[in-house]
Amino acid sequence: MMRTYHIETFGCQMNEHDSEGIAGVLAGLGLFPSASAQDADVIVLNTCSVREKPHRKVFARLADYRALKAERPGRLIVVAGCMAQLIPEGIREAAPHVDLLVGPRSYPELETALRRKLEGDLQLATLLGRCEPDLQPLPYQRQDAVRAWVDIMYGCDNHCAYCVVPLARGPEVSRRSEAIEQEVVDLATAGVVEVTLLGQNVNSYGRGLTPPMGFPDLLARLDGVAGLRRIRFTTSHPKDLSARLIEAMARLSTVCEHLHLPVQAGSDRVLERMGRGHTAGEYLARLQRARDAVPGLAITTDVMVGFPGETRRDFDETLALFRAARFDQAFMFRYSDRPGTRATAMADRVSEDEKQERFVELAQLQNRIAREINDERVGEVFEVLVEGPDAKDPKKARGRTRQNKLMIFPAEGAPADQFVHVRAQEARLWGWLGERQSSQDAKLRGEAKDR
Ligand code: SF4
Repeated sequence: MMRTYHIETFGCQMNEHDSEGIAGVLAGLGLFPSASAQDADVIVLNTCSVREKPHRKVFARLADYRALKAERPGRLIVVAGCMAQLIPEGIREAAPHVDLLVGPRSYPELETALRRKLEGDLQLATLLGRCEPDLQPLPYQRQDAVRAWVDIMYGCDNHCAYCVVPLARGPEVSRRSEAIEQEVVDLATAGVVEVTLLGQNVNSYGRGLTPPMGFPDLLARLDGVAGLRRIRFTTSHPKDLSARLIEAMARLSTVCEHLHLPVQAGSDRVLERMGRGHTAGEYLARLQRARDAVPGLAITTDVMVGFPGETRRDFDETLALFRAARFDQAFMFRYSDRPGTRATAMADRVSEDEKQERFVELAQLQNRIAREINDERVGEVFEVLVEGPDAKDPKKARGRTRQNKLMIFPAEGAPADQFVHVRAQEARLWGWLGERQSSQDAKLRGEAKDR
């Protein structure tokens, strides 16, 4: 009988990529994807703990799935990811119908566990250990033919006061560079032209490896992979943004002109309470060094408002930093307590209303800046990797520039997964509306902003 699975993913790109791995394991066990949980024999929730909202959603799903389990007792309910690792007992209590809990560092053992569960093993309930990273790469079922995510490291050693990642994903460990390089070579051979290197703090890649290797060295190794046109990476920690990395970004032709550099706050007092390991001034200096070295560099960030103890004056310093930094885009969050983090014990709570007011004020400032930056680049020609037809207007195509900005333009002659050159004509918050240019002309006119 054809058995099916359904995976729902919450949270970051690393979780999305883990879900590609989980899908590969299930396919390897002979299961087929199902569009809905209602029809699936195996339901997987790949969870995120970084904020309260995804937590609530997962518990709501699990409540819904109680009926699905009662309807078909042989159906498997699997909770994977950061919530499984952080609050296994809480999940068991709220949802005793869950069959298996799998932590984000246990996936190499997933195949055996799922086979046992599918064969009716009722005993096995949790997989929360921490496997060696290159033990057994997952059989990723990638969703995209030309773009791919590649894990380069797991975990984090920074222990920022508000963050659960080190608790959920464990201490930092880097994959061997040969394993990463081989994976990228195989991907490029299979037609992938753009890879995104994933890690909680990619700038500290290689610590603990023998022989030691830094992130710039890894980039240099991957830059030479035949067929690869673009390398992206996320996430960077500002305290580890080295001069060597900035130099590599400027020199290596495949490394895209986009840097995601979370700042979290603009006040030195709050940055210290968060344990970020740098000041606002140091952050701005590194940002400027990167901008000076890499022409056309786009910079994006993460920021939170309402961290315990944040005063109006502290928040004004965040606004001031945003005016000085002029980010291309910012992911903004209201602080919420996370289980087991230092910040949960901190006093001087900011009210939800105050958080909301600060959030709106910061969003208005950032949107104005993002629009101004895109306005300033109207008229430039960008290399765009076409994703496909625009959802709102099928006569238009959409794709991303090397700055990771969206470009929407007439679709004619712009097949998906191809590189084209587009002149930015109208600015939007997320990028531009544009007009196709013939690559030859663009190159001849030296307008093509690709390398
Ligand atoms: S560096 Fe990032 S992942 Fe690590 S603890 Fe800080 S916020 Fe969390």
